[in-house]
Amino acid sequence: PLALMASYLDTLNSAQLKAVKHSPQIPLQILAGPGSGKTKVLTSRIAHLILHHALPPSAICAVTFTNKAANEMKERLTKVIGKEQTAQVRMGTFHALCALFLRKYSRTIGLEGNFTVCDAEESKKIIASLLKTHKDDLAAKNMTVKESNVLAIISKAKAKGLSANDFARKMRSQSHRPKDSSDIFASTSLVSGVDLIVAEIYKVYEKTLRKNNSLDFDDLLLFGVKLFTENQDAVKWCKHVLVDEFQDTNTTQYDLMRAIAFARCVTVVGDPDQSIYGWRSAEVGNLARMQKDFASTEQIFLEQNYRSTASILKASLAVVAQDKTRIQKSLHTSHPKGPSPVLQSFLSEHIEASFLAAEIKRVVAHMGGTLNWGDFVILLRFNALSRTIESALQKEGIPSRVLGGHKFFERLEIKDLLAYLQLADNPQFVPAFIRAVNTPARGIGEKTVAELLSRVAQSNRPVMELVEKIHDGATPDIKPAVKRKLGSFVTAIRTLRSLASANASPSDLIRRLVDLIRYEDHLKKTQADWDTRWENVQELITFASDVQSDLDQNISDSEGEGGSRDTPLRLFLQASMLSSEGDQQTKEGESEKVTISTCHSAKGLEWPVVMVPAVEQGIFPFYRTEDVEEERRLLYVACTRAQSLLYLTHATSRKVAGDIKTKELSAFISSVTKEDPSLFMDRPSFCSPSDRKVICQVLNRPPPDEEEVKNRIVEYNKTPRNQFGMKIRDDPRIEIAAPGTNFVSSGTLNTLYPP
Ligand code: ATP
Ligand code: MG
Repeated sequence: PLALMASYLDTLNSAQLKAVKHSPQIPLQILAGPGSGKTKVLTSRIAHLILHHALPPSAICAVTFTNKAANEMKERLTKVIGKEQTAQVRMGTFHALCALFLRKYSRTIGLEGNFTVCDAEESKKIIASLLKTHKDDLAAKNMTVKESNVLAIISKAKAKGLSANDFARKMRSQSHRPKDSSDIFASTSLVSGVDLIVAEIYKVYEKTLRKNNSLDFDDLLLFGVKLFTENQDAVKWCKHVLVDEFQDTNTTQYDLMRAIAFARCVTVVGDPDQSIYGWRSAEVGNLARMQKDFASTEQIFLEQNYRSTASILKASLAVVAQDKTRIQKSLHTSHPKGPSPVLQSFLSEHIEASFLAAEIKRVVAHMGGTLNWGDFVILLRFNALSRTIESALQKEGIPSRVLGGHKFFERLEIKDLLAYLQLADNPQFVPAFIRAVNTPARGIGEKTVAELLSRVAQSNRPVMELVEKIHDGATPDIKPAVKRKLGSFVTAIRTLRSLASANASPSDLIRRLVDLIRYEDHLKKTQADWDTRWENVQELITFASDVQSDLDQNISDSEGEGGSRDTPLRLFLQASMLSSEGDQQTKEGESEKVTISTCHSAKGLEWPVVMVPAVEQGIFPFYRTEDVEEERRLLYVACTRAQSLLYLTHATSRKVAGDIKTKELSAFISSVTKEDPSLFMDRPSFCSPSDRKVICQVLNRPPPDEEEVKNRIVEYNKTPRNQFGMKIRDDPRIEIAAPGTNFVSSGTLNTLYPP
């Protein structure tokens, strides 16, 4: 196995090798374009730190952008250093790392170990109730303010590391001078006066969270910074910090990195050309900041792309090169040219979608079994575009899954059950109480809830303490009917609590809970699609047992400092709150589905075939954007996910908010084709044996047997299809806006595109 152990160095090129072997004492930035092996180098460097420099795995902290990326890195690392050592590396998102250490050291910074992570939906509810108290004030100013806007402003402030007081001070000083357009909050178009109300809400919002013994996502990071700067014990384990996708860190995340990088040993990898989270306060300037803070920082550049064919790389680089403000850097590949990317236009979004579905069928047939559904991804500017695509895939009988779509943990049935579990763990968490107390219906009305909550506010005691008191009859001024109605609720929470403190497994807790509150019956009574929701409940139980088996493997982390131990329930709740966008586990068989994803969620990933529909003005760039260049980079990120085949499509007419509108090709692309029309082909033409060879070569797969290809093509041709490969039998009526006008005409596919 010694030979196997060194093998992680074998496949690296000289620049990559230099980065992996770079002295651990000298801070390092690896800056390079997509597909140049940044993530691969980061993983190899971790292995090298452990195997060559003899760092204990538990002294290494690796930060990834999503849990999914962390899992991929774990998989790659397991192959080199084995499962046991890999499990000890502190690997995860900034949020997950903070949560882990905040639980462990909660007491030292004035938190309770059983704090609940409050998600955006709950935060919005809290803010909505706070907005009500300013109703008159806002009405007097003739203003309406949405809770989501307020939350976005607070979140931006937190990403900048501004506390409620800092923010209030800033707003007060600002209300005396005119807004300048570069101001970070100017974009929210708040009129002065309202800013001060937001500042006030921010203050009370923070107080409310603390009273609930709760942290929101931004707080996890802010309290993390506080913990790691104030408490040396919390960071002294760390000998080296590595950060992937560094270009997308915000100020608070940077502060975190600096605090954890206590031993001054840091490796970051990033690509300014792929910074796509400015809208969430990411600061590409953190690269320069790091050079100041870590004086001896050195840079290494990687210039060879291993992901894509030469023609995909060339077209992608042409897109990003249109950004004249960008710093030029070189990126080349030794891969063959391969089929040019396709740039094709259609009369409507429905035709575009059926083309993509048909094309997937065609490619699979022509590749004779070397490509399957799982090798395709359709990347969208935003999730709402997925509906048309999903139904087109369905019509062709192609299975698909939506990555980062409606998030599992945001579903009603999941939130209902989590609310009970949260309350059993944290008796102060009011949002969970509001959700659970009358679900299933117990005849407890809004008035009663309001009355209970005002008592909670007055007494300053945990909500569950009060509710249990009432239930036990210790509150004579509450009507007996209310006590009775609270019965099943209190029983459920008490049962869960005692099971949890006896370390019952989370999956058992959920099974028990579902029984106790007859949740299946509740779903049947209240939800038309109760059966799929019930499936989700089963999925939650599966998730819980997965968390349990992770715990069994790695119990050392659950040891609290003050001798208190986190219960399996608490660790389960944490895992469920931190599962983030694009994180859904790939279920069995899912790898054989076409992936539909947003461009943002696809960051860092790769697929053999990438299709990007709706490459249109108003979509790329998105019409509401504040930063056109960031939109261009987003398209660049999308294109550079492709290994062998890339399709950009657009519709000349698309239904937007119920109206059919004419659409123009994205200027990001038209400006490129004006300069070099040969970068794209206007319809797919590949199918030759040599194309097949190139496609497989880039993917490191053996080319198909040509006999098999022939058979599959014969099979494919049995279905009558039009010039675009769409099934002729499906001849839907299509409405389009005539180019240049908004005059709507209609026809069937076969009349618009004769077979
Ligand atoms: P992104 O910017 O999109 O995150 P990246 O720079 O992190 O890209 P990786 O994902 O690490 O790139 O690598 C891209 C692909 O190239 C992966 O499939 C990886 O295994 C492969 N690769 C990287 N370096 C080499 C190499 N030296 N030899 C062979 N394959 C390589
Ligand atoms: Mg990467």
